[in-house]
Amino acid sequence: EVKSNGRGAACRYVPEIRERAEERRALEVDLGMALERGQLALAFQPVVEAADEHIVGFEALLRWTHPVLGKIPPDKFIPVAEDTGLIVPIGHWVIREACAWAAKWPRHIRIAVNLSPAQIDDPLLLEVVAQALADNGLEPARLELEITESLFLNEKVSTIERLAALKALGVRFALDDFGTGYSALGYLHKAAFSRIKIDRSFVSRALQPNGEASAIIQAIVSLAHSLDMATTAEGTETREEFELCRSLGCEQVQGYLFGRPMPPEEATALVAGVLVEA
Ligand code: C2E
Ligand code: MG
Ligand code: MG
Ligand code: MG
Repeated sequence: EVKSNGRGAACRYVPEIRERAEERRALEVDLGMALERGQLALAFQPVVEAADEHIVGFEALLRWTHPVLGKIPPDKFIPVAEDTGLIVPIGHWVIREACAWAAKWPRHIRIAVNLSPAQIDDPLLLEVVAQALADNGLEPARLELEITESLFLNEKVSTIERLAALKALGVRFALDDFGTGYSALGYLHKAAFSRIKIDRSFVSRALQPNGEASAIIQAIVSLAHSLDMATTAEGTETREEFELCRSLGCEQVQGYLFGRPMPPEEATALVAGVLVEA
């Protein structure tokens, strides 16, 4: 808001910065207690097969209800969790909780869990994932770990090794928010992704008359297919967007058209009684 470089402006600006730093510090402290105080919850958003519009999975999305501030959006608290390292213990909880719920669902319904780059560096991650699968009797192939391209920004041997060790458990990998970040593509063959998630920014522009976004979706689908990967179109809000994505070859879609992130009980009820097709 304050654009002037004059001294008066600077003086008015400083308390604002301090306020923001204090707000952030308070958020860090509160987030540190959120898990043990039961303020964190998972919401599950349906993932749908484009061909028949049946639910094939859910993505686990973290929710924080702050006792005073109310619901805080992930885009606000996940960065705090990443910067403080709290994402590691919180992430362990997310993995265990997500696997426990998925174990209650029909066997063809998979669960996707988001992982921040800092979680891949966590030496306990492999053990936590293996244990969560074993404790719940969940087939590893039903767990899909979503990571973003930013993971490959500083090419570390340990990153590739950790992904390979996870992969050896039998879990799958999806590349989240594809097309928004680094996109150097060189890493694509190293980590053996099963799926590319096409970012919502392309899907929401897909119907624009200039056709740019739909050309990008088409290119991503073709890249994915040539590397034996499937695609999911994120943030599908309208039937028109869905039909376009389907016609461009996206196998799966996810978005408000088919369901918002919902409480675990609701997700479980939604797929209860769905028979596994032979
Ligand atoms: P993401 O993994 O790309 O998740 C998809 C986001 O798009 C979710 O936002 C979801 O609610 C939103 N979304 C889905 N369909 C639609 C739609 O049709 N329209 C619109 N406008 N939005 C839609 P959410 O839940 O706010 O999560 C934001 C991000 O926070 C996630 O993006 C993910 O990167 C991160 N995140 C969430 N939970 C976790 C977690 O457990 N661990 C980690 N490391 N990150 C998480
Ligand atoms: Mg995701
Ligand atoms: Mg995404
Ligand atoms: Mg994301």
